[in-house]
Amino acid sequence: MRLFAAVLPPPEQLDEIGHVVDRLHRLPGADGLRWTSRPGWHLTLAFMGEVDEELLPDLRVRLARAAHRTPSFPLRLHGGGHFGRRALWAGIAGDLDELRLLAERADAAARRAGVPMDEHRRYQAHLTVARARGDGADLHPFLDELGTFEGTRWEVGELALVRSNLPVSGVRGEQPRYEKVDGWPLGGPPEGAG
Ligand code: ATP
Ligand code: MG
Repeated sequence: MRLFAAVLPPPEQLDEIGHVVDRLHRLPGADGLRWTSRPGWHLTLAFMGEVDEELLPDLRVRLARAAHRTPSFPLRLHGGGHFGRRALWAGIAGDLDELRLLAERADAAARRAGVPMDEHRRYQAHLTVARARGDGADLHPFLDELGTFEGTRWEVGELALVRSNLPVSGVRGEQPRYEKVDGWPLGGPPEGAG
């Protein structure tokens, strides 16, 4: 199955960015973009792609450990950005060092469990809200609106393992696009305690 590790913002923060994205939907050119939908909004930590079922038990143990080693930390959604003419995203502020460490630990967990992981690119935390079709699009009108957005902070308390279901034979809404398959609390009591 196609898997990735992620941070899932709580409902309140999704509401906040949801209001902004509703406004973006009404801007000229919005129909030309593919908008991601709110139930699937996430911050990717480590993308694994297709993972053999037999690797799952070890992967779970290692992700649990990665979560355990990371204390909970604050984040907020903040402004926006873009990857070229391709992707429009909400940005992230807060304890980005801890977020990056969690991403590295999730990556290492997958690698050690035997998942072939891509080489590291610089980790750029983001929440993708739209993608351009075809040759790309001018995303600046949307960035003007998104750029001033400031979300309220939340405390990241969980590392999630998410399944990505690619659309089946072009039938939209046939299945959930992203499904959380497991989650592990950050921090927690010291190992071996009790
Ligand atoms: P679609 O591929 O249909 O446009 P998607 O990119 O959201 O949708 P996936 O390709 O399954 O769905 O990716 C799941 C998550 O992992 C997304 O947040 C995506 O941006 C991220 N991702 C996908 N491929 C990579 C990659 N090679 N490196 C880093 N992150 C990736
Ligand atoms: Mg993709």
